[in-house]
Amino acid sequence: MTNTLYDALMGPHQGSERAFLILPDGNALSYADIDRLSARLANLLVAKGVAPGDRVAAQVEKSPEALALYLACLRAGAVFLPLNTAYTPAEIAYFVGDAEPALVVCDPGREGQRDAFMGMSTAPLMTLAGNGRGSLMDAAADMPDSQTPVERGPDDLAAILYTSGTTGRSKGAMLSHRNLLSNAQVLVDYWRFTADDVLLHALPIFHTHGLFVASNIMMMAGGAMIWLSKFDARQVMSLMPQATSMMGVPTFYTRLLDQPGFDRDLAGHMRLFTSGSAPLLAETHRAFEARTGQRILERYGMTETNMNTSNPYEGERRAGTVGFPLPGVELRIMDGGAEVTPGGIGTIEVRGANVFQGYWRMPEKTAEELRPDGWFITGDLATADPDGYVTIVGRGKDLIISGGFNVYPKEVEEVIDALPGVLESAVIGLPHPDFGEGVVAVVARQPGAELNAAAIIEGLADRLARFKQPKQVIVVDELPRNTMGKVQKAALRQEHAALFGG
Ligand code: AMP
Repeated sequence: MTNTLYDALMGPHQGSERAFLILPDGNALSYADIDRLSARLANLLVAKGVAPGDRVAAQVEKSPEALALYLACLRAGAVFLPLNTAYTPAEIAYFVGDAEPALVVCDPGREGQRDAFMGMSTAPLMTLAGNGRGSLMDAAADMPDSQTPVERGPDDLAAILYTSGTTGRSKGAMLSHRNLLSNAQVLVDYWRFTADDVLLHALPIFHTHGLFVASNIMMMAGGAMIWLSKFDARQVMSLMPQATSMMGVPTFYTRLLDQPGFDRDLAGHMRLFTSGSAPLLAETHRAFEARTGQRILERYGMTETNMNTSNPYEGERRAGTVGFPLPGVELRIMDGGAEVTPGGIGTIEVRGANVFQGYWRMPEKTAEELRPDGWFITGDLATADPDGYVTIVGRGKDLIISGGFNVYPKEVEEVIDALPGVLESAVIGLPHPDFGEGVVAVVARQPGAELNAAAIIEGLADRLARFKQPKQVIVVDELPRNTMGKVQKAALRQEHAALFGG
């Protein structure tokens, strides 16, 4: 029997005593340990009536057991449905109603809110805490620690990940065994991961970055991961000497740069730092190199497509760009039904084995974004330079049209960020009675810096065309971000919606 993704990720490590998950206290779980753990859990899923194709929803803290649950779902032929730990019971209720899981796993602290998030569902609810305790592992303890993975082919679903959806309902991206396997294979090769690698893993595992990009790659390569429940700059620094590589979101890098002891002595030996999930400022890229001698490798992907582009492993990692389409990924930049002329800005479309199967039970949404010939309309605006490096200029929905002119927020943000005293900025469009949308900059000051709106507006006067200049500047201490480091522009637009009386 074959099980496309599980066989490729874990098949070669059967019985291997090599370290797989290294915990901060120095203890490690081997590949064989995780194999036994996931076998017990897979047997439990089957005993609970989870059949191939059924969904298993999990809103749990990161732990070795949580990763084993993902593997158990693959083994049992179930579809893993991880949920952001920040979701409220009301939000969970939507996912449970939409995905109709056959089993739900939550933190023991949430068990008392069962009625709020299970709604009409009669599925069993089990618990798993960040320390591995709870009814899930209690029940699994009695199960056999070997299991033959259920037959699953490349087109069968392995996971559904709900997009972070800032407007409307979030959509469940259906990812097949082939989608996940093809991307893991490409990335192991492209980023040169081997069994000698030890990855600092401080990302959450309810998201594509920590679960698929990081964990799938490391399993495929046979390497080890230093398994951290969350990112803490000091802890990451203390463990860095044991690591060869780290995958991060941009905030990991800015927080490391905030630490005075973070330098070449500490980071110089690392083989690879990657960044993604949100734009890495060119300035951060340069500051990181100046401090450590390391050039961060930035890549670009999304829940629906896995990874699409990457800066090269060898060759120039160009700051501010996301590099080239990965092998096997076709990419085009489209405007008004045609590819843009060189240097033009348009929407990225991608096609390849990495692209998802559509949105769960949303055929209309799927048809809007996934063309019948396989091209997926990402909604990200980008341009490619003459060498083929792709630069993301923002989400399509963040584009501002003011007085009939297109304003690309990133361009304005870069100019603002270069002003003295500015930490970072978010440029948004708000309803404006004359211009349709008015450009507004929300600017975070550097700690201790004096910053006022008038000085910023003055500082931009001869640096940007008038229609791009913010009509209002709002100075704040920090920008709102989600756990993946993405600035929450929709929240900012909502908060300031009435600024121009619109
Ligand atoms: P998610 O589905 O949560 O992974 O979010 C995907 C979105 O994150 C993409 O559509 C991009 O808008 C953004 N994103 C991911 N990587 C990058 C990057 N390196 N630079 C800029 N934006 C990125």
